[in-house]
Amino acid sequence: MLRDVRIDFPRVCQICFDEDPHMDWRWGLGTVARCDKHNALLLDSCPNCHEKYQWHTSLIKGCSNCGLAWQQLAEETKLSIPAMSPIEKMLLPDESGQIAATDSDIRNICRSLVRAARPYDILQESLQRIPFSHMHSELLLNALERIESPWTHSIVTERNEYIRPFRRKLCLDNDTQQYRFHIGYRELANHLSITTTDLRVATKANAFPRLNPRVTNVRDQIFDLRVVNKILHKFEGHLTMANAKSVTLSPRSKALTQGSISYGHVLTSVLNQELVGYFPMEGNYSLITVKVEDLDSWLKDQT
Ligand SMILES: [Zn+2]
Ligand SMILES: [Zn+2]
Repeated sequence: MLRDVRIDFPRVCQICFDEDPHMDWRWGLGTVARCDKHNALLLDSCPNCHEKYQWHTSLIKGCSNCGLAWQQLAEETKLSIPAMSPIEKMLLPDESGQIAATDSDIRNICRSLVRAARPYDILQESLQRIPFSHMHSELLLNALERIESPWTHSIVTERNEYIRPFRRKLCLDNDTQQYRFHIGYRELANHLSITTTDLRVATKANAFPRLNPRVTNVRDQIFDLRVVNKILHKFEGHLTMANAKSVTLSPRSKALTQGSISYGHVLTSVLNQELVGYFPMEGNYSLITVKVEDLDSWLKDQT
């Protein structure tokens, strides 16, 4: 989910900066939430004025925006510092760079971090780097909490910084809830219970409108789940076939495999109303019922 766990914005421990201003290289890792000497949460922005800290020598004194000194912050912080959890300790490399966490632990944590940043999204978006968002350390602790106690994690605000810019452009009115309905190619295939190959046939024929129609790479194609569902619901089990003999097709139906015709073609023809058919089971799009005589002539047209 994340190509690189290094962050490019400064984070500091206010107690270290008060006692002996220095930077620890480990604070530049997005998987580290605290200074191991004081257990204090690393700060990337001023708790008083919320201004993002900059790489500047003035940082030694405190916030360059509101003037809040490290000493003042350090005293307040010392009053309530929780202990590091086992997972946090595992993620903290020693000074020589040795780390207890495995590659798979780090991958899980990256996945959880992206999930914690956008908890309500369907689309699982991968990112090159960890973007700046106010108090990254809190987000990380939330991501770790999601792993340690999956059923009790606290509700957090969504961090739009974790949405890739090209997706942001798809929501012109900047309605941040719209992003939650973005669905990617793979997720859509899962939703329909069909293969990505079958979905490709349907999307090529515009059976589902894309939010970014000019994008040719299927992996970057994005759909609005609300629009997709509206289309599908029109074809859900309510069509009367008036005494006509009908047949229900699935991706493995002999009628299709014999003629080397993919299920995606049937789905496309039904959605584009070239073949009369419906989904006999609500919410299951890997079954389509059509009239036998319609199917016969449709199959002839395909070959
Ligand atoms: Zn410290
Ligand atoms: Zn400030």
